[in-house]
Amino acid sequence: MPNQYRVVCPKCGKAANVPVGPQYTCSCGSVNATPQGGLLYIYRMGNFVGAAIGMSIYLNENPVGAIANKETVCIPLGYGTYKLHMAHGPSRKCNDPVFEISAANPVVYMKAHIKPGAFTNTILIDPCAASEMPGV
Ligand SMILES: [Zn+2]
Repeated sequence: MPNQYRVVCPKCGKAANVPVGPQYTCSCGSVNATPQGGLLYIYRMGNFVGAAIGMSIYLNENPVGAIANKETVCIPLGYGTYKLHMAHGPSRKCNDPVFEISAANPVVYMKAHIKPGAFTNTILIDPCAASEMPGV
């Protein structure tokens, strides 16, 4: 079980880490139901390239906050198909994996790392096993 969930408030759009539970209270005062269905875990692999800079997470183009170097986030999601995109500083190149959360496939694990390039870095996101993620 994760320690906390990464959620986006449907009222104000703010992303935050909240305690695991069926609902949470946003800093704007809105009490929101935690999305039910499945979980997306993202692990940002340790990398010296831009380690101090947060990596932005987008699901279906919607911002879901940032992830720090060597951090794992757990995002509760309803059933559906999602495109995961991540950006790091000026780096916007990413392999944008598409995955499905369903009753048959409720938990998805992804690990991300930065591949340095001559002109721009690329973020590579790959499906992985829970055993490859610290803190899961
Ligand atoms: Zn809010």
